[in-house]
Amino acid sequence: MAVRKIVKIGDELLRKKSKPVKHFDEDLWELLDDMKESMYKNDGMGLAAPQVGVLRRCVVIDVNGLYAELINPKITFQDGEDIEEEGCLSVGSFHGRVKRPYKLTVEAYDRYGYQFVLSGEKMLARCVCHELDHLDGILFVDKSLDKDKYFKK
Ligand code: ZN
Repeated sequence: MAVRKIVKIGDELLRKKSKPVKHFDEDLWELLDDMKESMYKNDGMGLAAPQVGVLRRCVVIDVNGLYAELINPKITFQDGEDIEEEGCLSVGSFHGRVKRPYKLTVEAYDRYGYQFVLSGEKMLARCVCHELDHLDGILFVDKSLDKDKYFKK
């Protein structure tokens, strides 16, 4: 396992769309292990593959001690709304409010290629949405209610 360098905002790689994972092999496991280690090293709650320079649809999250790896994730249900501040390891010290669903259900594959379903509320829903946005080249500052403060810096 190795801590990988986090790609920062301004790098166009963060703006690209990631491709689905096709092979659930040792290369994927190494990537996931490195993402996990990099997330913990940086005190993050989630990390998406593009943030370590890999344009593949996988994310790792750790919300309230629940660690999960989501490969080729897809949100299948969402409901309600919730506004809280978010930050991002690729953005730095800026935190801004973002409106997210209050609860959601996501379908994904684990590292062995088995499909599973994860449901959650509040922080879990927020974290999943934030990380899945990364897979489509979207950063939280794009949709933050406080984005004017960020972009006028
Ligand atoms: Zn982020």
